[in-house]
Amino acid sequence: MINLYDVLEAADGQLFGEAASQLFTDFCFDSRRAEPGQLFVAIKTNAGDGHDYMEDAVAHGVTGLLCNRPPRFSTENVTVIVTRDVERALIRWATLVLDKFGTSVIAVTGSTGKTTTKEAIATVLSSKYNVYKSPGSYNGRFGLPVALGKLRSEHQLAVLEFGIDQFGEMAELVKAARPMVAVVTNIGHAHLDRFGTIESVVSEKRVLVENIPENGIVILNDDDPYVRKMRSHTSASVMTVSVDTTGNRLGADMIAYNIVEGRSRTGFDLRFGEQRFIGKWTPLLGAHQLYAVLNAALLGACFDIPVETSLRLLTETTAMPGRMRPFKGVNDTLLIDDSYSASLESTIAALDWLESTKDSNEGRVFAVLGDIGGLGSSALQGYRIVGEKVAGIVDGLVTKGELTNELERSAQENGLSRTDIDITFSARDAAAAIKDRMEPGDIVLVKGSQGSRMERVVKELLADPDEAINLPRYEAVFDQVWLERPNRPTWLQIDMDAVANNVRQLKKIIGEDVALMAVVKANAYGHGAIPVSTTALLNGAEYLGVASINEAMELREAGIDAPILILGYTPGWAANLAIRYDVAVTLYDVTLARDFDRAAREMNARVKAHIKVDTGMSRLGVMPDDVTPFFRALARLENIDVEGIFTHFSVADEDSKFTLKQISTFNRVVKPLQGGGFDFKYIHAANSAGAIQFPEARFTMVRAGIAMHGLEPGQEPMLGDEFIPALTWKTTIAQVKELPEDSYVGYGNTYQTDRKEKIAIIPVGYADGFRRSPQTFGEVLVHGQRVPIVGRVSMDQTMISVDTIEDIKIGDEVVIIGQQGRERITVEEVAERMGTVNYEVVSTILPRVPRVK
Ligand SMILES: *Cc1c(COP(=O)(O)O)cnc(C)c1O
Repeated sequence: MINLYDVLEAADGQLFGEAASQLFTDFCFDSRRAEPGQLFVAIKTNAGDGHDYMEDAVAHGVTGLLCNRPPRFSTENVTVIVTRDVERALIRWATLVLDKFGTSVIAVTGSTGKTTTKEAIATVLSSKYNVYKSPGSYNGRFGLPVALGKLRSEHQLAVLEFGIDQFGEMAELVKAARPMVAVVTNIGHAHLDRFGTIESVVSEKRVLVENIPENGIVILNDDDPYVRKMRSHTSASVMTVSVDTTGNRLGADMIAYNIVEGRSRTGFDLRFGEQRFIGKWTPLLGAHQLYAVLNAALLGACFDIPVETSLRLLTETTAMPGRMRPFKGVNDTLLIDDSYSASLESTIAALDWLESTKDSNEGRVFAVLGDIGGLGSSALQGYRIVGEKVAGIVDGLVTKGELTNELERSAQENGLSRTDIDITFSARDAAAAIKDRMEPGDIVLVKGSQGSRMERVVKELLADPDEAINLPRYEAVFDQVWLERPNRPTWLQIDMDAVANNVRQLKKIIGEDVALMAVVKANAYGHGAIPVSTTALLNGAEYLGVASINEAMELREAGIDAPILILGYTPGWAANLAIRYDVAVTLYDVTLARDFDRAAREMNARVKAHIKVDTGMSRLGVMPDDVTPFFRALARLENIDVEGIFTHFSVADEDSKFTLKQISTFNRVVKPLQGGGFDFKYIHAANSAGAIQFPEARFTMVRAGIAMHGLEPGQEPMLGDEFIPALTWKTTIAQVKELPEDSYVGYGNTYQTDRKEKIAIIPVGYADGFRRSPQTFGEVLVHGQRVPIVGRVSMDQTMISVDTIEDIKIGDEVVIIGQQGRERITVEEVAERMGTVNYEVVSTILPRVPRVK
């Protein structure tokens, strides 16, 4: 319970209007998760400003608001507390209530295992004391006070996580909560991206140990060299724990040894001073989780709880969501959900468990791995280490995401066969890749960083779908939360699950018997050639189409081995590349064909070719009347294998009469060739529009590009609702200013204000593909409203007029393409404004705009 008067005192705050409620059930900082009776705290974080969401919070039933400026909407029935600094008010409130209730704080810090350790400690101490533990994994400068929202006066002890990701944060936490006990789990590579070096992580975390008073207790991990060294930095009593996997660790106060890692429990013997406890176990999986048990049992002993009692209590614990939590997987398998987060150390620890369990396991073992987080500049090295390790353990590996390419390569270098590795880019595909292979007795470990959302993979593999509530981040709000940020304030979000869905829809339309070529030229229309190709192939495509040899090479170098056709002109001098990279070329000219034949002969190889016929578009292709002589000439070229014949439609999206004429011309050319003994494996004509609208144009394969991305192939909509646009383009406000009347805006002074006008600058320009002329994108979305672009678009920056937007400020999200609130700007709309087609809009978004999932 949170008392209004405590908050007022801590906040040095003022009531704005009447106090409608004086007691609140808990704090809340995310309006989407607000519940009736709570006090909403308007906090500014990297992700946004809580003040923008106060109205939403009230709509969800909160009865109090803590903010630094009063809301403009009506706040009847809501208590509004205004303070200069909301964060500081929260921290001071924490100190105030801990003092008032006389609750002693036990602080748990470390790079991994904090939540599990906190839970174990609370389990043990609750046998003797009234213990408060923070729900979930709230920690940090702002999470810690929030975590105390349900503290009551009868709580004697509070077990809290002290997680940090900024310099100076630990000092603030310590000052606020004045802990009597510190438990340090380990120091690792988590947050290296924030702290730079391990040494800085160590010195930050050490602040906790340094501040434990003389009559307090510090529990350290003796196996971690960084943590062990903290012992000389405190005047409190220090106790140590050790998990002895090698049989020669002796120095610690409490040691687990004779460790047996099993499928359902971890067995161990334990030594505490002179005492021995033999044949103990915990349901927590993995030797690394034993530290939580030891920390809890040792701390229990400090509070006079017999070790035997603590160990018994700890056999009742269950794993936290996403931390080596076992589930029954489909087809009688053991599914291990370790998807909460992934640092280098925790990934290695999970694989260690898999390795030792493997020997006693009758089935096979698999790993499904997403990205590893927080590695900073040591990312490549980290992936290599994991790749090497995983190769020696698993019978199969599934990777999900861009960064895991390095992992896959190193796993392969270390002996895992390519056929045992599946590379995927969407959760569905990752799950599908492993699902078919799961047989009774197998173990499947799923792990990845928060941002890679691997719990979505776990969800697909559960034997009982109702268990999904026990996965981390299962609530819908996480679908809108930023878990990992792009490396620039202008970025594209590409939804690979949408691409997967669209490809399946296309396949459904064309049917089993017609092959699908995924056309991925121009970096898959700006969506990313490698992830789109991979995803398309996993969802029903069997061929890839590109425009030129270098695009084909890029796919091959990424390990894609599906057949590829270059749809455009490949010059004779590139024949050797086409052969070496095993790529089919388009031929339509006798001299060109001879060049290819010669190159193939010289390399003692063969060239795969598709012959292109021009049936009316007048782009590349043999004219219908020249087809017979062309094939006669081809027959003499022994090193060319003709695999297919095709044509291309010019108006499949608008003029059915002309398209039907093209189809009939194509038939007139192909039929006699077939009659004359030419056997084409692939006969193809239709693009997305043709494939959808002209069943008779599907032949044995269709070539689809635009529809895979959920974009319309023509002016008239032809994609059903089951197609989903995959691309969203976002940027952020870089500055807001009030311009006086008669001010000029942008290069060339082409815009002049005719009144006082509020202008914002967005960090996006024509060098991103945000076009300057003759027409600009016209409008963007801010706070869910359309606002116009004013003045000229520069290379990297653009001005927008934001007079209509209240409370707009630096960092606010701007949507260029996609949905914001109830408004949506479609690619089609932008294309229309610019006088072009959606194809051009998306394929000219330039590479410097980062693509994130
Ligand atoms: C680009 C292209 C396609 C794909 O067209 P969509 O309209 O994007 O489906 C098909 N065939 C050829 C020859 C192309 O150049």
